[in-house]
Amino acid sequence: MTDFSFSATAECDLCGAYLSASDEECDHDGKPVDKHVFRRLGEGRESLTGVRCTPRQKWYKLEEKIGEDWIAYEYLGTKDHVNSMLDGSFWDGIEDLPKIAMSVDAPSDVGEDES
Ligand SMILES: [Zn+2]
Repeated sequence: MTDFSFSATAECDLCGAYLSASDEECDHDGKPVDKHVFRRLGEGRESLTGVRCTPRQKWYKLEEKIGEDWIAYEYLGTKDHVNSMLDGSFWDGIEDLPKIAMSVDAPSDVGEDES
């Protein structure tokens, strides 16, 4: 990792909060950090991807990971939630799981802060 000790602020990688120093402890504003699972529209297990962060930050992290194709993904829930759905007998597989949100539900500034 590069040491940015001379910079005034740093951004928490998990919740996006601005910190006064890069080594400052972040409490993520009390928000839980989970693994959030996304599926590409109409696809199955091979399209799954996950990001670890707070709920609010998940679309930003997805865009960071996938690039502009993030728009083709839908949110299935936390990894625990997805696993518990798969453990039940109600759903046949990943492609049958109901989505919780689509990319149109994401904050409008996702992907617009490229520097
Ligand atoms: Zn944080």
